[in-house]
Amino acid sequence: MTRITGLPRQIRRDLNWQRQALCVEADPEIFFPVGSNDTSEADERRAKDVCEVCEVRARCFQWAVNHRIPEGIWGGFTARERRELADRLKNRR
Ligand code: SF4
Repeated sequence: MTRITGLPRQIRRDLNWQRQALCVEADPEIFFPVGSNDTSEADERRAKDVCEVCEVRARCFQWAVNHRIPEGIWGGFTARERRELADRLKNRR
């Protein structure tokens, strides 16, 4: 388990879910596939497979949307997928 120290309490609370992040045990490169080719598609699929069984997936997704993270796979979605999903959810309200 990762310890988050040296940060103000509010920020620590905001990042607490990351202690349960399954991706800390995976190759970080797969969460940031580059380009559009067989290798990047395989990396994306592998990253999404990890996210699929991660207990904090929903919080991870929300955090990435709230902070407008422009790259990488968070919560099982690419940046483009997160933007599209967030827009769809916003339009439903
Ligand atoms: S949902 Fe995916 S990116 Fe987010 S913490 Fe879990 S494994 Fe990591």
